[in-house]
Amino acid sequence: MATMFIAGESTASSSGQTYDVINPATGEVVDSAPKGTEGDARAAIDAAFAAFQAWSETAAEARAQLILKGIDAVKKEIQELSVLLTKEQGKPLGDSQREIEHFMHGMNFYAGLASKIRGSYVPLPDNKMYGMVLKQPVGVTGAIVPWNFPITLMGTKVGPALAAGCTVVVKPASTTPLTTTRIVELLNQAGLPKGVLNVVTGSGSVVGEEILRNAKVSRVAFTGESKTGKHIMEVAGSQMKRVTLELGGSDPMIVCEDADIDKALTGASVGRFYNCGQACLAVKRLYVVESVYAQFVEKLVGKVQRLKLGNGLDKDTRLGPMHSKVQREEIESQVADTVKRGAKVLVGGKRPEGAEYEKGFFYLPTVLTDAPHDSRVVTEETFGPVLPVFKVKDLDEGIELANSSQWGLGSSVWTRDLAKARRAAERLQAGNVWINSLHIGYDEMPFGGVKFSGIGREHGPEALEYYLETKGVVVATP
Ligand code: NDP
Repeated sequence: MATMFIAGESTASSSGQTYDVINPATGEVVDSAPKGTEGDARAAIDAAFAAFQAWSETAAEARAQLILKGIDAVKKEIQELSVLLTKEQGKPLGDSQREIEHFMHGMNFYAGLASKIRGSYVPLPDNKMYGMVLKQPVGVTGAIVPWNFPITLMGTKVGPALAAGCTVVVKPASTTPLTTTRIVELLNQAGLPKGVLNVVTGSGSVVGEEILRNAKVSRVAFTGESKTGKHIMEVAGSQMKRVTLELGGSDPMIVCEDADIDKALTGASVGRFYNCGQACLAVKRLYVVESVYAQFVEKLVGKVQRLKLGNGLDKDTRLGPMHSKVQREEIESQVADTVKRGAKVLVGGKRPEGAEYEKGFFYLPTVLTDAPHDSRVVTEETFGPVLPVFKVKDLDEGIELANSSQWGLGSSVWTRDLAKARRAAERLQAGNVWINSLHIGYDEMPFGGVKFSGIGREHGPEALEYYLETKGVVVATP
């Protein structure tokens, strides 16, 4: 059984209760996890609060060294961790390993930045006085993480928090607690002082709510659905907690007539179907200029038909199951609604047939055309392997349709014309624009959304700012 980790100790739920974690490919139980209570969340927050002062006053270099030791411990166990991640999340094994490598890369990035955090010296009008601007850690951080990339999205919070001198309570998604709890344990065993990094498993409405409402938590870093994000903003806002919200998206991709078509096809196929379409930055609406539309769609369908669907532990699998029954039902209902309104299914649009798919939450990769612009697959986030494709007159029409959305996370434009690329980069209403590039988050680049896709940024040196307060100190020479 997995355990939580509070104040440097592996621990069960104070209620003694556990719940089962299900393998999305087989429907079998992978393991069980503690059903954390409000009291467990409080204990973890108390531990993080008690550890804060000493950790915040630990030399940045020493904090960085401890993070690096933790990464080494994770690296030694990467094979086992990858298998565990595939079993609880469903993604292909190679993708699980890449996710954990990405986590280590991000932690390494922030370990490197810990000693670069600095304030400034400010000359004042009276030259017998001067100002100092100090950068100080915010305090206890609640890191609330979803199930689609449980490990990297924990790292995007824990990395900058620890580097800045904050202490942390991690709350993984209920359905993906196993790899997270083991990694938190490894980071602790590598030398983090007691209480600096804690993890409490259990439901959002119990453990998550305690994190939102507990006065000892100064900062909430959240990734998840926009609906949950709004609730978090309201509750945390009423207490003036610092909040970042990485929420849902419906990223548009625009293919111009002068694009490198083969590269754009890979961009669309990988961009939409990676992680079985369950990525915030996945390509969720594809706009193709009319002169290349027919050939693009034909080749895309061929590519999608070749994607091998299966259990993530099989080495040929490119597309695993969807993460849960609920997720699959949601996608089915979005597709049914859109087809009823006139959309055509070019490929997929249903569950696969065959004994190997019966017990898992599989859904065929799907390409739709003729979806009305106000249908559910366009207006809502589609968190699964479904791609609606639209014909547009030119880039400008593509940008207009791309922007006619409540979402504003990512977007991409594919063209060899730099003037067009620049126009799109400036006009697209999104936190991120990729030019001729896959929708990928880089540790080096700030990442986040505008509109209903969120507030604040993760990744990059920019993310550190959200874990720091700025203090002005005025000094008069005696
Ligand atoms: P949810 O919002 O349902 O859950 C995210 C986390 O919040 C889980 O740990 C959940 O716990 C917790 N939670 C739920 N209710 C509360 C509450 N009342 N108080 C505190 N915590 C709570 O999102 P999903 O897990 O379904 O994640 C998928 C979503 O995440 C998609 O919309 C996707 O676009 C978005 N996302 C955004 C990214 C970005 O960078 N912008 C990146 C990746 C995903 P529990 O599991 O127990 O319910």
